[in-house]
Order: sequence, then structure tokens, then C-alpha cells
Amino acid sequence: MFFDKILIFSDRISELLWIKAIRKSFFALFPFILFGSLALVVTNFPVVSYQQAMLREFGTNWKVFAELLTNLTFGLLGLLLSGSVGYFTAILRTEKVQGINPGLAPLISMLSFLIIAVNLQFHPAEEWLRVDTLNQSNILLAIMSSIISAELFVFLLTVQKKKGWQWKHNPDADLKNAFEVLLPTFLTLIAFMLLRGALIAADIPDINQFLSEVLTSLFRHLHNPLLTGVCFTVLSQILWFFGLHGNNILFPIINGLFVDNLHANIAAVATDGVPPHIITKPFMDSFTMLGGSGATFCLLIAIFLSYRHKNSLRLAKLSLLPSLFNVNELVTFGLPIVLNPIFIIPFILVPVIMLLIAYLATAIGFMPRSITDVQWTIPIFLSGYKTTMSWHGVMIQAINLSVGTALYFPFLRLHHIKADNDFQKEYDRLVHLVQHQPTTKKLKLLKRRDILGQIACSLADEMEIALAKGEFFLVYQPLVNNQDQITCFEALLRWKHTRFGLIPPSLFITIAEESGQIHSIGLKVLEMATQQLAQWQQQGAKNLRVSINLSPLQLKNPQLPFQLTRLLQQTEIHPAAIDLEITEGLELGTDEITDRVITALSDLGLKLAIDDFGMGHTSLLYLRRYHFSKVKIDGSLIRNIDQEKHCQDIVSALVHLAVSQNFTVVAEYIERLQQQQILGSLGCHEYQGYLISEPLAADDCWEFIQKH
Ligand code: C2E
Ligand code: MG
Ligand code: MG
Repeated sequence: MFFDKILIFSDRISELLWIKAIRKSFFALFPFILFGSLALVVTNFPVVSYQQAMLREFGTNWKVFAELLTNLTFGLLGLLLSGSVGYFTAILRTEKVQGINPGLAPLISMLSFLIIAVNLQFHPAEEWLRVDTLNQSNILLAIMSSIISAELFVFLLTVQKKKGWQWKHNPDADLKNAFEVLLPTFLTLIAFMLLRGALIAADIPDINQFLSEVLTSLFRHLHNPLLTGVCFTVLSQILWFFGLHGNNILFPIINGLFVDNLHANIAAVATDGVPPHIITKPFMDSFTMLGGSGATFCLLIAIFLSYRHKNSLRLAKLSLLPSLFNVNELVTFGLPIVLNPIFIIPFILVPVIMLLIAYLATAIGFMPRSITDVQWTIPIFLSGYKTTMSWHGVMIQAINLSVGTALYFPFLRLHHIKADNDFQKEYDRLVHLVQHQPTTKKLKLLKRRDILGQIACSLADEMEIALAKGEFFLVYQPLVNNQDQITCFEALLRWKHTRFGLIPPSLFITIAEESGQIHSIGLKVLEMATQQLAQWQQQGAKNLRVSINLSPLQLKNPQLPFQLTRLLQQTEIHPAAIDLEITEGLELGTDEITDRVITALSDLGLKLAIDDFGMGHTSLLYLRRYHFSKVKIDGSLIRNIDQEKHCQDIVSALVHLAVSQNFTVVAEYIERLQQQQILGSLGCHEYQGYLISEPLAADDCWEFIQKH
């Protein structure tokens, strides 16, 4: 119940345009974050001999050079994020709006962020762009300022368009664009200048510093060390959750309290006294931040143990090395944890519980107090030992790791459920897109670069194995004549996918056509259908036919007539017992190969039918030239034939024309007796639809035949 509520809440949040834009931005910046994490580990690798060797090899400046990589990634994270959040906000906001070009939005967002973030106390002006104003400590400011500026910019563009303040008759498109963004750009930047001016007037020259001062002032009134530790952890985690660098903002507390405590402990030991403090900086680093703030090492272990979700697993593998050295940006931004409501509870709770466990263990004397400075990049267990100089420190870390992993587990499950739900929604969108396409339009699903394209590509990749594993099978829908006798079964292909269940044929056939796998799948269909018909004929249904769907693309395969000849020989079926239905959806090729293949099929004695006739581009004359002898009237015309006069008129004209040209006429989508009666009176020969039967599993067909 509680978890359901979190899921619903998280669903609602992730539907928000801004949250979508933020998530997309974090993913877009993923390469930089990965790069920065690795650079951070390389520079701060906590092995003395390594550091000495690097110093020997490359001189004292090696760290400055190596830190360049970190400074250009994490160091500019605020700036980079402002650009990408501005970009995605503007793109999502104008997705369905025409005639607006938000291309400048990322740059405007970056400028707006700089207007708010640069530290005006630095002189000369070049110092404004110091890395510490543009780095990850300013993420929240970057996100907020870029959302506001992108929204404002798009809003102004829209107003301008509505009012018709556009330069209509300029032949130079670039110049026209430049003039169109002029006013919105000016106004957006001026709005941010005014905002900054107002903040300065309100005596807030630096927002981060202001926040830091307000928050640290809260701690002045706390005198209980445990309570201070808990409050610090909760606050720092909340800041991290919002993408703010908790340790930077709460630096005065870390420095003034936890570092001082350590020094007091060291001084006490030096004079043979008892260390007075439990909570020190190394204590906090080693026992509450396993793998970085939020103790995300536990989350990684939970991901490895659950081993279910490919994406999480991939991320966990990538982040394992940096996390070992307590660099966890990949996890916090990649999973992501930042601004993800599902993770806020364990993200705050786990470090607090770890703090309590470690505090208790020290208070009862199980674990010694910390008396040495330990670098924050020292890996788990080693840090536990170094901090306490005792194996008991390692044991407490192990306990904390287990407790933290167990606490992260249910929330990770929830995260996976949500990811699965989101994926299913995208899949449903893909199905909707395919089912509502105008028949002639080529979708080019595999060429799409969005999530729908990715799903289509992964389905294309899976097809071959699915075919081998038997996930594709045929169902059969009966056709009856005017005497209500079963004359034929149409073979309809199904794909029972392990994740999505039954995939609609319109989707997988489109994908198979685009990927070229339609030929191997089509051959499999021909094999299965002919073998099935042979079995029914052997069982006694001598005159039964089977109707098989072919994609127009299969008619471009010169091997098709040979494949069919072989199948007819193997199964000893008479060619006249097989109808080949070619759908009108895709245009029939007029090339020489198609011409030759169709002629060869007709020469074999197979009957050619045009499926979904009436909606596409083929005329009866054209069909006659190509040896077609049967038409299946499109279901959309039949569906309302008993309710709409004009449908009846169109079908009536089609049937008359087809009958006069000696075509056999089939009507599909018969769901009501009235439809069949009308079509009978118009001169149709065969009927197919739910009124007669839905498509049946092969095993059920024989029973159906016997009943009729
Ligand atoms: P189609 O060949 O026109 O098949 C008729 C479709 O209408 C089938 O959908 C069938 O289940 C559905 N149908 C039949 N009677 C009724 C009815 O009374 N009411 C309603 N609402 N629907 C009815 P299905 O099986 O989803 O197939 C969709 C399309 O996928 C087929 O249209 C065909 O173009 C294609 N397809 C199916 N199997 C194959 C195949 O093996 N190869 C190729 N190339 N295409 C196939
Ligand atoms: Mg068909
Ligand atoms: Mg059809």
C-alpha cells in the first residue's frame, strides 16, 4: 500500500515536463559524468606509492593537469546542465507547436544561469567565471534558472507569433530567424538581470553562500553530538537529493565541527588522554558514506544481487570502480537518484541508520574512536580499519553494508517496476503508432532515434532467436461460402514474446519488412501452413484450402516460386488449395522481378488474392494483368456496412465490378449476421469474421471443421 502510493506519486512526478527535461539532461550528460568520475579516481587514487610514482614520472604539476579533466566535466557540470536542461525544456514545450524555433534556448539558459550564479565579489571580471561557480555545487540553481529562462523564452516566442510580430517576407531564412529571436532573447536576459539585481538589493549576493549560512546557523543551537550528526546527515542527504553538493554547502559544519573533533581526539591521544569525540570527519566518511553520500555502495550491491534489470546492471558495473573510491556521481545522476522520489527515503534513511549503528558500537566500547585523518577516497573496509585502527571497524562497516543493502532493496524493486511500467507505456505507444498509420505511409521504425526506435530495433534483434525458439506460431481463421460450408482457413501469424506477450502482427510484420527478415519469417509461415493443410487433408478434409498472407516485399524474392514448388512437392498439396493474400497496404512493386515472381506463382497454379482491397492503390485492371483472381474487401468498409449507406454503396460498386471481371469476392470483418446478409445479396462468395469464428489454434480447428 505504502509502496503503491510511492509508485503513483513517482509516476505523477515523472509525467511533469520539467522532470522529463531534467532526466533527459542527466542522461545526455552521462558521458561527461563518467569521464569526470574516472578522472577523479585517477587523480585521488589512495595508494601512496602510486602518488609518489606519478610525482616522480610527471613532476609536481601532474595533478594540476590531471585535474583539468575533472574541472572540465564536474567543474562545469552546472553550466553544462543549464544548457541541456534549457534545450530539453524548450524542445518538449514546443513539441506540438509549429512555426517556433527554440534553437537558441540552450544558450539563453546558460547565460541566464551565469547571470544568477557568477560571484560578483571577485575582481577583476574574468574571475567571475571561476570553476567553483559553475560546478556541481550549483546544480539546483542551474536547473531552476534554465527551466525558467527556457520557458520564458518559448512563451515570448509564442506571444510574438500570435501577435504576428514576425518578419514575413524575408527570403533569407537565417536572417529571419535571427530577427525573430531578438526580442524574446532581450527580454529573457533582462528579466534575469532584474532578478539578480533584486537578490543583491535583498543582500543575497551569492545564493549558495546564503543557503550555506542559513543552514549552518541552524546547527549553532544543537549541543548533543549524536543529534548534530543525525541532523547533518539528513540535511546533507536532502541537499544531495536535489542535486546540491551537500558537503560543499555544509562545509562550515564539517570543518568547524567534525574536523575540530578529530583534532581534539588526536591531541588527547598525544597526551595519553581518552579521545573525547565519537563523531569526527573520518568517522562520518567511513561509516555513513559507504561508496559516497547516500551510502550508494549498498545500492550497487542490491543491484548486483537482484540481477534482473539489464540497464541498472550495466550502470552498476560501470560505477563499481569509482564507487570503490567513494565517487558516486554515476549512480546518483545515472540511475538517477537525484530528484527521483522513489529513492529519497532510503537515500536519507540508510546513512542515518548507519550513523546510529556506528555511534552505538563506539559508545558501548566495541569500536575505538577515530584518531587519524583518513582520506575520503580510501575504499570500504580499508577505511574502516584505518579510521579505528581495529578489525572491529571493518566489522561495523560490514554490518552497515548489509543493513544498507537490505534497506535499499525494496526501493530498488520499486524503481524497476516503474522502469518496466514506463517501458511498457512506450511499447504501447509504438503499437498505437503502427495500428493508426495511414496504410501507404512508410514508418521507418528502425531508423527512429527515440525510444520507440530503440524498442523496434531490439524486437528486430530478437526475431531470429524467437523464430528458432518457436515463439512464432500460426492461428487459423475459417472462411465460409454462401452455403455456410468451411472452404478455407486463413493462416495468421502470432509472436508470443516473453516480455510483451502477444505482439500485434502489424507491428512485427512492419519491423520484419524493414529489417529484411520478412523473407525468413515468410518462408517459415509457408512451411507451417502447408504442413498443417496437408495434415487436415489427410484427416479427410479433401477440399479444404489455406490462405497465406504475403508481404509485397516477398514478391521481390526470386527464390519464392522455387521455395513454394519444393513445399508443394514435400506436402503433396494441390496448388489450387493455396491462396496467397497480398496486402494492399504496401504498394505492389512494378519492377521486373516482382512481375516475374507473380507470373511464376500463377503458373504454378496458386491463387493470388489482394487483401484489404478498396483502400490502397491497386485497380482491378492492374490486378487482372498480374494474374490475381480474388479480392478481399477491406474490413474498414465492411465494419459499418449495415449502418452506413455510403459504405454499402462503395462496397456494392466494388463487388459488382469484381464479379463482372470474374474475381472471387471475399468479405472479412463479418461480426453481425446483417452484414453477411447484405454482402450475400450484393454477390459476395466467401465470408470471414468473428461471427463465424475468431482465429483458432491449429489444434482447435479440426474440432471446428467436424462441428460444421
Ligand atoms: P489481414 O490479412 O487482413 O487479416 C485479418 C485481420 O483481421 C486479422 O488480424 C484478424 O484477426 C482480424 N479479424 C478477422 N475477423 C475480424 C472481425 O470480425 N473483427 C475484427 N475486429 N477483426 C477481425 P491479425 O491477425 O491481427 O492480422 C493483421 C494483419 O497482419 C493481417 O491482416 C495481415 O496483413 C498481417 N499478417 C498476419 N499474418 C501474416 C503473415 O503470416 N504474413 C504477412 N506478411 N502478414 C501477416
Ligand atoms: Mg489476410
Ligand atoms: Mg485483410
